[in-house]
Amino acid sequence: MRTWIPDNRKFAYLNWKQIDALPRDKTLLILPTGAIEQHGYHLPIAMDTLAANLFLGKALELIPEDMHIYALETVCYGKSNEHIGFPGTISMSATTYMSVLRDIGASIHAAGFKKLLFFNCHGGNAALNDVMARDLRAEFGLRTFHMGGSAGAKMEGLSPQEQKYGFHANEFETALLLAATPDLVDTTAYTSNYIAHVDQPSILSPEGGAVNFAWLTRDIAASGVLGDPSAATAENGHKWIAAGAAKAAEALQAAYHYENLYKP
Ligand SMILES: [Zn+2]
Repeated sequence: MRTWIPDNRKFAYLNWKQIDALPRDKTLLILPTGAIEQHGYHLPIAMDTLAANLFLGKALELIPEDMHIYALETVCYGKSNEHIGFPGTISMSATTYMSVLRDIGASIHAAGFKKLLFFNCHGGNAALNDVMARDLRAEFGLRTFHMGGSAGAKMEGLSPQEQKYGFHANEFETALLLAATPDLVDTTAYTSNYIAHVDQPSILSPEGGAVNFAWLTRDIAASGVLGDPSAATAENGHKWIAAGAAKAAEALQAAYHYENLYKP
């Protein structure tokens, strides 16, 4: 799998003596979480895994060298059962996914490390990452963190409609790959689909409604796209990668320096 994570930030490229020499309390270990799932006719099924590797790699380039921050290998498979029924989607069940995160956390704890951060680029994983961040805090006393790959950075130039209802294989994701791996985008195969309009949000909706119904992509988007990729450009992709990486680098450094803010 393609990654932009610098070699000197890869935990798996260290030997155990080098790992043993790391400061246990300070070192921040990052677990990127992605997915292998359909992304319409125009993007590869690795989209979310590539996005995790991309944002994390670019963010790590911005971190001062003397900070002990390392990336674990990306968990490529996620909980993607919303995309089941589309060829290529490979999903873990919620219990399997949580077990994988739990066992990785247990191993890190066994080695004496204290800080673990989930760096997520697949929406279907987010709720489970939150659960596991808390469970690993409770079970092992780990300092755990959970963030999205672009850390909530504002993406200039994205329309309000796309910001609100571009969920998947949308303009944002398409632009990222047009900038980073254009060979993996089929620009002749765009399809578009919105579940609602930003000016007329529906009361009953798959997301963002007064009441949400549980959805499978095949119920609401025949091509698998939720959003409109047609306005995507490599230029915006480069801009958004830089914006996300800058915010993510700031967030990673805050986690690195974290101390309990609410001491009694
Ligand atoms: Zn995606």
